[in-house]
Amino acid sequence: MPEKSAQNLKERPPIVVVMGHVDHGKTTLLDYIRKANVAAKEAGGITQSIGAYEIIHYPGGDPSTGSGRPSAEGRKITFIDTPGHEAFSAMRSRGAHVADLAILVVAADEGLKTQTKEAIDILRKSETPFVVAINKIDKTNGDVEKAKNELTAAGVLLEGYGGQISWHGVSAKTGDGVNDLLDLILLSAEVEHLTYDPSAPVSGFVLETRVDRQRGSEATIIVRNGTLKRGDMIHTETAGGKVKILENFLGKTVSELAPSAPALIIGFERLPRVGEEFSFGLGSVTLQDEKRGSRLQVPKVVTGKKGEGPQVLNLILKASDAGSLEALSLIIRSLGNDKRPLNVVEESVGEISDGDARLAVTTGGAIIGFRSKIDKGAKNLIDAHAVRVITSEIIYDLVKAVEDFLHELEKPPAAGELEVLAVFNQAKPDKQLVGGRVILGIMKGKGNLEIVRGEGTVIGTGKILNLRDKKSDVIQAEKGKEAGMLVNSNILIAPGDRLLLRG
Ligand code: GDP
Repeated sequence: MPEKSAQNLKERPPIVVVMGHVDHGKTTLLDYIRKANVAAKEAGGITQSIGAYEIIHYPGGDPSTGSGRPSAEGRKITFIDTPGHEAFSAMRSRGAHVADLAILVVAADEGLKTQTKEAIDILRKSETPFVVAINKIDKTNGDVEKAKNELTAAGVLLEGYGGQISWHGVSAKTGDGVNDLLDLILLSAEVEHLTYDPSAPVSGFVLETRVDRQRGSEATIIVRNGTLKRGDMIHTETAGGKVKILENFLGKTVSELAPSAPALIIGFERLPRVGEEFSFGLGSVTLQDEKRGSRLQVPKVVTGKKGEGPQVLNLILKASDAGSLEALSLIIRSLGNDKRPLNVVEESVGEISDGDARLAVTTGGAIIGFRSKIDKGAKNLIDAHAVRVITSEIIYDLVKAVEDFLHELEKPPAAGELEVLAVFNQAKPDKQLVGGRVILGIMKGKGNLEIVRGEGTVIGTGKILNLRDKKSDVIQAEKGKEAGMLVNSNILIAPGDRLLLRG
């Protein structure tokens, strides 16, 4: 009966995520808000972060002193502490509804940067409402006006600038403006009418997981609906168990938690995956586990060999820690599809080892490392077998590189390939004289080129104006021959580049 459930609905606090470019002050802002919060201070401070925390904000008041609290009631806000873009993207890719609201942090001294734009894109696609914090206003070289103009140009229409998106200048360092920002968040939350049904079966999502030596599988979860009680059976798609220990974000044991509250639970029989939703009950975890296990088997089809149907690309995933690995795994798996099947042969935490390199060699696969270094033993094997390794510290760069790699694999092989040994004249990019050796197929005069540098990234295109063999012009040059050519290209060619003939 809808009327009855509508009557049961209660207001719940907003769950807020902070996004923006690296170094723009996300961590500093989250730390300031956490430390300035009276409730946390009264509770003896927060010893260990569990990936999320809750504050009580007094609209119009000053949380750092607690003084001058207005008559307004304190209102709760939950902040998701650690994930950054990667976990947020990972959760989104699984369809999980994570944050109700976001703060987009833009440093006044730098303005809009790549990851600011990526964050805007993610927020738009996930339809997550957000407020803008223009940070570092204490810096003398900060230019708030410029930041606002850049936001407008990026389609983020701010209040007072023809739009509805609230913004505030802040200094995460001094705390200036942070209080007003929290007021804005509560105002935006009001517009969203965030509610829950206390009597509904509990549900929410998994924010972080880790294994504690003494306590076993720990998971930070955030309740979205219903009430979570100690002793409840809960499950995700891949794991389940009984909530044996339930702690709030301050590490205090509690018997139940209402929505938007972050909690640390012990009781999952194995680690659930970051970003998964959980529900009340035991679910069909065993069956799902079997399915999951089969994905980890070494597949029959590997890259490099022509087979029936689309070729499967084998991947070995490595990351610096469990949370990053979960995020990486979710994002990379989401890049595959029927035409471009991906198979994760193995995923693990740590440096890229010789074991990983060997697995890549035997499966014909590639290694994808997120914040993982290559150890020395692995390096030799990787070089000797030309194993494709893609690593980055930044998830977006990594995903981009993997996508480029996948596009590259989809292309038919080049008709010819020339390795550039020397560049003779580059006075004009449209008339570059280069010399090299044909290492594959046949190079033909007047052909179109792709210019590949380093690990196989196409960095430009061009056209052969004229192909020469020693002194005379020729129509073509076969594998093994040296040839000179006049090339018109949009980039400057360098020795070591490879020129691929593309028709
Ligand atoms: P994140 O990568 O977005 O989490 O950025 P951080 O919070 O780590 O901040 C990057 C750097 O900027 C650190 O050195 C901070 O101390 C500094 N920073 C952050 N917020 C402010 C601010 O409001 N004013 C000034 N002057 N420095 C800030």
